[in-house]
Amino acid sequence: MSDRRKFVKFSLLSSAAILVGRKLFARTEINSAGGYDTVKNEPVVISTWDFGKEANAAAWEVLNKGGKALDAVENGVKVPEADPNNQSVGLGGRPDRDGRVTLDACIMDENSKCGSVACLEHIVHPISVARLVMEKTPHVMIVGDGALQFALANGFKKENLLTPKSEKEWKEWLKESKYEPQKNIENALPGGKQNHDTIGMVAMDKNGDLSGACTTSGLAYKMHGRVGDSPIIGAGLFVDNEVGAATSTGVGEEVIRIVGSHLVVELMRQGLDPESACKKAVERISNRNPEAAKQVQVGFLALNKKGQYGAFALQKGFSYAVRNGKEEKIYESQHLYP
Ligand code: ASP
Repeated sequence: MSDRRKFVKFSLLSSAAILVGRKLFARTEINSAGGYDTVKNEPVVISTWDFGKEANAAAWEVLNKGGKALDAVENGVKVPEADPNNQSVGLGGRPDRDGRVTLDACIMDENSKCGSVACLEHIVHPISVARLVMEKTPHVMIVGDGALQFALANGFKKENLLTPKSEKEWKEWLKESKYEPQKNIENALPGGKQNHDTIGMVAMDKNGDLSGACTTSGLAYKMHGRVGDSPIIGAGLFVDNEVGAATSTGVGEEVIRIVGSHLVVELMRQGLDPESACKKAVERISNRNPEAAKQVQVGFLALNKKGQYGAFALQKGFSYAVRNGKEEKIYESQHLYP
C-alpha cells in the first residue's frame, strides 16, 4: 500500500473512531478544573425516603417543562411540608419536648448561593423562607424568632403546626419521658416507630445545573432550641455545580460532626461514584465511634454531574425515591450494619 493510501485509510479509521467515541461519551467531558461539563443533560430528581416519591412528582413538573433545578426542589419539598400526615416535616411535624413544632430547612443553588432557617415556628413552608433568606438578604442563616419575624414581614401566614395526632402522641410520650438530652430516642415513640425522617432532595435540570433542598421538623421531642444537620449547609445539604450534590437524613449530630454532605461531594470530586462516596461518609461516622454508630441511623443520598445517583446508610431501612425521564422508583439503600 502506498504511503498516501495508508495515510487516507488511517485518517478514515481515526475519524470513525472519534465519531464512535463522541457518540459513546456524548454526555460528559472532564473540564480543566477536574469537574464535569455536561454536554447533553437529562433532568433527574432524587429524594430521601418513600414519601420522596410524591415530592419528586412535584419537582418533576418543573423539570419536565425545562424549569430550573432550584424551582424544582423548592416545589418538591413543599409537598411533605404541607402534608399534615407527614410527622417529620412541616405541618404536623412532631414537636419538641415542650410541645413546640420547630422547623429547620435550607436550600442551595448552582451558583453556591444558599439560604437557611432553623428553629422556625408557625410557618408551613420553611423552605420558601430559606429561599427568601438566600435571595433577599446578605445572610445565609436566620434562626428562631428572627426567622419568624422575617417570614411574617414577607407575607407568610402564622399557623398552628401541631396537629391533634402529633399532640396526642407527644402527650403519650411525656408520661414516660425523662427530660434529659438524648440524641437518639427512636424507640421512645409509641409503637417503637422511628422518630426521624427528613426530606432531602437534589436535582439536575436540562441545563445540567444542580440544586438541593432539605427540610424537617427534626428529631421528635428534642430539647427546645435543638438544631440538627438539616439546615446547616455542608452538613444536611451541599451542592457544587461542578461535581454533584448530596443530602442527609438521620441523627443530625452525627452528620454535623463529619460535615457529611460536603464530605460526600468532596469524595465525588476525588472520583468516587455517588454510592461509594456516601458509603465512605457513613464509614467515617462508624470508624469514629462504632458502638455509638450501631445505635443510630444516618443515610446519605448523592447525585453527580453525570446524572448518576446513589445512597448509603448506617442501618437497614433507608429508602430513596428517583424520578427522571425513564423511571419513577423507590430504592432501598445499601447499609453498613445488618
Ligand atoms: N436529620 C434530622 C435532624 O437531625 C432528622 C432526621 O432526618 O431524621 O434533625
